[in-house]
Amino acid sequence: MPMPALMPVYPRCDVRPVRGEGCYLIGERGERYLDFASGIAVNALGHGHPHLTKAIQEQTATLMHVSNLYGSPQGEALAQRIVDNSFADTVFFTNSGAEAVECAIKTARRYHHVNGNPERHTLITFDTAFHGRTLGAISATNQAKMRDGFEPLLPGFAYATFNDLEGALALIDDHTAGFLVEPVQGEGGIRPASPEFLHGLRKACDERGLLLVLDEVQCGYGRTGKFWAHEHYGVVPDIVAAAKGIGGGFPLGACLATEEAAKGMVFGTHGSTYGGNPLGMAAGQAILDVILEDGFFEGVKAKGDRLRQGLEQMIPNHDHLFDSVRGMGLMLGLKIKEPAVCRDFVAHCRDHHGLLLVAAGENVVRILPPLVIEESHIAEAIEKLSDAARAFVPVSED
Ligand SMILES: *Cc1c(COP(=O)(O)O)cnc(C)c1O
Repeated sequence: MPMPALMPVYPRCDVRPVRGEGCYLIGERGERYLDFASGIAVNALGHGHPHLTKAIQEQTATLMHVSNLYGSPQGEALAQRIVDNSFADTVFFTNSGAEAVECAIKTARRYHHVNGNPERHTLITFDTAFHGRTLGAISATNQAKMRDGFEPLLPGFAYATFNDLEGALALIDDHTAGFLVEPVQGEGGIRPASPEFLHGLRKACDERGLLLVLDEVQCGYGRTGKFWAHEHYGVVPDIVAAAKGIGGGFPLGACLATEEAAKGMVFGTHGSTYGGNPLGMAAGQAILDVILEDGFFEGVKAKGDRLRQGLEQMIPNHDHLFDSVRGMGLMLGLKIKEPAVCRDFVAHCRDHHGLLLVAAGENVVRILPPLVIEESHIAEAIEKLSDAARAFVPVSED
């Protein structure tokens, strides 16, 4: 077999979407799927949302791209709106989550550099973390499946166990720049940080002059029922990477920082050709128009509670298969009991029940619906999951 034209790095399934309608995807043969994956927490407003679609269409016709050589009224306006709704004083726009993480890593290193401590270049990160697929981002995880064959990776990372505060603090030395951590691990299996863990990291940063860098690429932007996941903890970060939901499907990311943390990011230190172009900014504004409406985040929380309740009520009827529910808001995980494998159950739901979910670490099925789901979608998902659980035979289907 010749090499496929599309580089075969993904084990793609047989769903081949050609159209989206709200919370549904329609495949090549006209088949419909209830989309509780949302392009992995990206399509916050579902598919074809009229406000987002219109904003992108109008901006495309007005001005799509210029360059960061020119002034950016569009970038200034979106950055200001994000600053007004976060801990941050300043924002750098990227095209992806990994680039937002890259910018966060560079910002942290530059901070210590301009403070006269260039030896403080190491970020302490956590096992089962996921920060993206660039060389910098895979260097920031110690998962072999992402790193194998890409050595030499970037120095400047040390790895601790997620939610093990003692272990993380024990790694601090003269080279430590700070911590890079997801408040709620997504890929790792929908694992929220414990409050003691996140508060402990913040305290260590305050005492030792380190930076708390949060990766909110998946858990930020309303997904957990607050704008930022760290708001649940009452912990204020120094730097945050955001992406996924920020453009609702338009490729967009952002690195947010306080004035102090970003003080090394002066003229010439960073850049991006596309990052922050007028088209991306229009998409970003349209998302904020919707999610910053009064009561939107409360609505996400209420829907998350309803979905969680439905899942928890369903578990005892299928306790050979389902263990427990975890997560926050509409970032939920359903832990599968062995010998069943979450990936097989996700495939079963998709192929036989028209329900799209995402597999994650720790044998957890990720449930990431659009933030605009309604009661009827929750009921439909629970029904499909119950049907799937009844029909599912926990052995590999191939
Ligand atoms: C998806 C993800 C990334 C990487 O985002 P890309 O847009 O794929 O580069 C980084 N961090 C977290 C937590 C993510 O979930």
